Amino acid sequence: MAKLVITCAVTGAETTREQNPNLPITPAEIAGSASEAREAGAAILHLHVRDAEGNPTQDLDTFRRAIDLIRAKCDIVIEVTTGGAVGMSLEERMQPLQLDPEMASLDCGTVNFADEYIVNTLPMMRECAATMKKRGVRPTLECFDLSHVDAAATLIEEGLVAPPFHYGIVLNVPGAVRYGEDTLEFMVRRLPPGSFWTVIAIGGRVALRAARASAAAGGFIRVGLEDNVWYAKGQLAESNAQLVEQAARVAADAGREIATPDDVRQMLTLG
Ligand code: ZN
Repeated sequence: MAKLVITCAVTGAETTREQNPNLPITPAEIAGSASEAREAGAAILHLHVRDAEGNPTQDLDTFRRAIDLIRAKCDIVIEVTTGGAVGMSLEERMQPLQLDPEMASLDCGTVNFADEYIVNTLPMMRECAATMKKRGVRPTLECFDLSHVDAAATLIEEGLVAPPFHYGIVLNVPGAVRYGEDTLEFMVRRLPPGSFWTVIAIGGRVALRAARASAAAGGFIRVGLEDNVWYAKGQLAESNAQLVEQAARVAADAGREIATPDDVRQMLTLG
């Protein structure tokens, strides 16, 4: 089996300090958390930034500041979000692509997101994929639903996404497809042969189960305070690194070697 890649989503758009006081918010805090996650075994950082009030923003300068600080601290592969936050325009969401990051997330369809919803029409997805292709950014094809896997296939058929493919299978977002081992297996079976995939399971109830299932099936794992604020039942995570350490133990139990950032650069032919 391929080495197991751990992605850490340290901040996200929705998590608050009220939910977990250890959430990194400023560019300096995010860089510190990224570096700790790297030391704990994460190879990819999934990056969102916040404004001075702690609200999600896709502001170019804030992304630049965060990326510069992360780069100065460690060699982790940076995957910027183009999902942004609920209610943002596509133009706004795509802003960090101007910084030519190695990777970026690409939402592959419209989805309920708790009490809100995130719109991703095919034309929006085409524009986002084409921009990434032009700038040499490797997309993580985020699929919250089977229809998203099929929409990603459309982008591939249209020549807007080229191999090697990396999918993020996002399950258990409130209002969307719930996590189940059978559901994960079914979606993974629908991916193009040879695809890499990362399970992104939202919430403490399923995070560990999903990590174990993915490690056993040859997949990758994403953890971090964006997806889950809990370390264990009733016990808040002390840091993003603590969640990465937990994922690294899951990988070791499954007999999987952990990938380094340079392994990821090779596997996904970045740069
Ligand atoms: Zn995100």
